[in-house]
Amino acid sequence: MSGNWKMYKTPAETIAFFEKFRPLVEKSEHCEIVICPPFTNLAAAVGAVQGSNIRIGAQNIGWAKEGAFTGEISGPMLKAVGVTHTIVGHSERRQYFGETDETVLQRTRAALEFGLSPIVCVGERLEEREGGATEAVLARQFQKGIAELSEQQFAKIVIAYEPVWAIGTGKTATPDIAAGAHRTIRAQVRDKFGKDAADAVRILYGGSVSPENVKALMAQPEIDGVLVGGKSLDALSFASIVNF
Ligand code: PEP
Repeated sequence: MSGNWKMYKTPAETIAFFEKFRPLVEKSEHCEIVICPPFTNLAAAVGAVQGSNIRIGAQNIGWAKEGAFTGEISGPMLKAVGVTHTIVGHSERRQYFGETDETVLQRTRAALEFGLSPIVCVGERLEEREGGATEAVLARQFQKGIAELSEQQFAKIVIAYEPVWAIGTGKTATPDIAAGAHRTIRAQVRDKFGKDAADAVRILYGGSVSPENVKALMAQPEIDGVLVGGKSLDALSFASIVNF
């Protein structure tokens, strides 16, 4: 169960969040819990979750170890502050910051090289869904990204299906729509990496997940977890998603 805080919260607000959130999920053993705050809050977040079952992820990762890449943060830098996961290829990065299938792959490889677990996001835009291109888009994103990994690398990633039209819009994919897309992605995994890999990989759904709709989504056997934006900002609401 993962939360993406996008560009919200200061370090002080981060600490206040975890003071409230930690006790609400301390007995939640049915899942892994990962929260991805902005870079400036990562150290505060890692400190606030020490000794708990909560892990901290970044929202992005630079593809190089170090160098002249203004504005980027590298894997070794994230490791040094105690980060364990990172989102890559979030649709907001693809949409507003020129992220491409190629750079998503580079960032995924960097996460793996530097010992972070990547949560790799894929998903179609509204016009692509309405034009019947969902499967083609998911296939392109898979072929140009995840399919380029080795079997050993693939075993370490988590995939997030995040239809762009459902992110931050209040429009959730129905459990059936989400499960259908997850089946498509899992079939791609099976073709490339085999049945065991397809059975083992965790595919998260993301897009306006809330305490109200999480149960129905998680009732779909295809949906292994969720990636939550807006509703992960409030401790009570994210805790009730985690403990659905
Ligand atoms: C996200 O940021 O990954 C996301 C799914 O956002 P929201 O839950 O707000 O739609």
